[in-house]
Amino acid sequence: MKRLIVIIALGVCVTAALPIFAAIKLAGQQQTDSEQRYALSLARNALVHSEISGDQLYTAAGAINALPSEKACTPEGLAVMRKIDLESSMLQAVGWVEGNVMRCSSFAGNQPFDLGPPDAVSQSHTRFRNNVTLIDPQQPYMVTQIGAAAGVLHKNLLLSFIDEIPGLSVGVFSWSSRAPGALRGTVPDIVRRPDLMADTVYRVGDLQVAIVRSEKYDIGAFAALPVGGSASYASRIAGILVPLGVIVGLILSALLIHIVRIRASMPMMIRTALKQDRFHLLYQPVVDLANGRLVGAEALIRWDRGSGNPIPPDRFIAAAEEAGVIHLVTSRMLELLAADAPDVLNIAPDFRFAVNFSALDMHRPEVLEEVTGVLQQAGIAAHNLVIEATERSLVDVDRARETMRQFRAAGIGVAIDDFGTGYSSLSYLARLEIDYLKIDKLFVQSLGTDSATSQVAGRIIDMAQDLNLMIVAEGIETAEQERLLKALKVDYGQGYYYGRPMPVDDLMQLLRRQRDGENVRLKLVAA
Ligand code: C2E
Ligand code: CA
Ligand code: CA
Repeated sequence: MKRLIVIIALGVCVTAALPIFAAIKLAGQQQTDSEQRYALSLARNALVHSEISGDQLYTAAGAINALPSEKACTPEGLAVMRKIDLESSMLQAVGWVEGNVMRCSSFAGNQPFDLGPPDAVSQSHTRFRNNVTLIDPQQPYMVTQIGAAAGVLHKNLLLSFIDEIPGLSVGVFSWSSRAPGALRGTVPDIVRRPDLMADTVYRVGDLQVAIVRSEKYDIGAFAALPVGGSASYASRIAGILVPLGVIVGLILSALLIHIVRIRASMPMMIRTALKQDRFHLLYQPVVDLANGRLVGAEALIRWDRGSGNPIPPDRFIAAAEEAGVIHLVTSRMLELLAADAPDVLNIAPDFRFAVNFSALDMHRPEVLEEVTGVLQQAGIAAHNLVIEATERSLVDVDRARETMRQFRAAGIGVAIDDFGTGYSSLSYLARLEIDYLKIDKLFVQSLGTDSATSQVAGRIIDMAQDLNLMIVAEGIETAEQERLLKALKVDYGQGYYYGRPMPVDDLMQLLRRQRDGENVRLKLVAA
């Protein structure tokens, strides 16, 4: 029992914790994923604009370097430069450079500007100057020089396409030298690592650093985003998933606890109820369809739960079977019958009581002894009793068949209950020693409809008649069903149409009235 409780507790904890944990994990993962994707998109944005600048720079340089050097700064050369300037969206200006001096330019004509020495020179002799002031000392420019041609780029333009995000650093750098170009914020140290990988997001402290590299030019770009900085999307997801996880977890655990509690306590509850004498029997009339006379009743067990929720018999019977206490319930049922039956038999000596036996009862070696013992003690004749066994109790056919044979040899009737709902075939029946076949209410209720089921009902009846079995139709609720069953020459009927399961006193009253020659119309006494 202790182990069971530990297992249950563990199960509940795991059930409750798993979805919550999964939700948190998923939310965290979602947040990280979306931050990483975001950082990569920012770095790509910077790189794309740098590449466009590069494309425009190369086009411009091609055209400018094609000018003969003596013509470059003439009005003719300046006209070419202005045209190029107009066509290049990323270049603020283009110019002609000698040494470290821009001799002329598209924006200032022949006014020279001292550019100072280059900050970096690439392998292809492209010269980079990262911090050049031209007219306005507040406006920093980058000047990239290919041959004699210079392209002037406003430092902020490249990155102006990227939103201002708190804590974001973004920049472009030379891949081979790692020299920084356009920059917002600070360059994380990792950018200087020699084994830097493109299209990768590095986690550095509380930063996600995305690195991308151009396939065309010797440039790379980075974007460094603080972790949790772009959390709005991720935290929204977390805000949905975590509570959902909690709710699902709670529902699952409640369900589990409920099921486990009922399962675990059912055998205990049944034992207690047996001790406290909390079971009784109701009797449902069985009538002879040929003349409408009340000839028998099926004993159906009930559990008095006081104010507690009623538990339907098939539920607790199944639980008792599973828990291995069904024989206790069957014994009590027989005791209750033994107490009720003599008074009934006083009124109607040939009355037949049908009782339900479970599969386990049919497999119990000492069951016959117990039944005959009860009958003898109560002074009930064997022919007053019919044992109902469901098709499901035929699991161990040989065993069940032997039990049935013994009952019949002792004069007790045997019926197959709920026929048609189990898995036994009709040919099975021929091998069993039985007296009655109870057709399940499913078939009775399909009669008169044009479903396939109603065809089956007819065939079951035919076949039972071939085997000389008596037929009891269960679950008759309407006069029409009764009419159809009578037409099919079915022997007996049982169902709400004739009466619901009733206390033994009501049953005796009906039998007295029948004995006294009254035309008992059972359907009027339905409880
Ligand atoms: P069952 O043996 O098939 O019993 C017939 C069930 O059908 C009864 O339900 C009865 O109330 C119901 N019934 C009768 N006429 C009609 C009708 O016209 N329409 C409908 N819809 N239902 C009708 P109940 O009493 O709830 O019993 C349910 C099951 O519990 C029984 O099915 C039987 O398998 C089991 N059971 C009841 N008492 C005992 C018992 O003492 N021992 C064992 N092992 N099982 C029992
Ligand atoms: Ca039955
Ligand atoms: Ca039945």
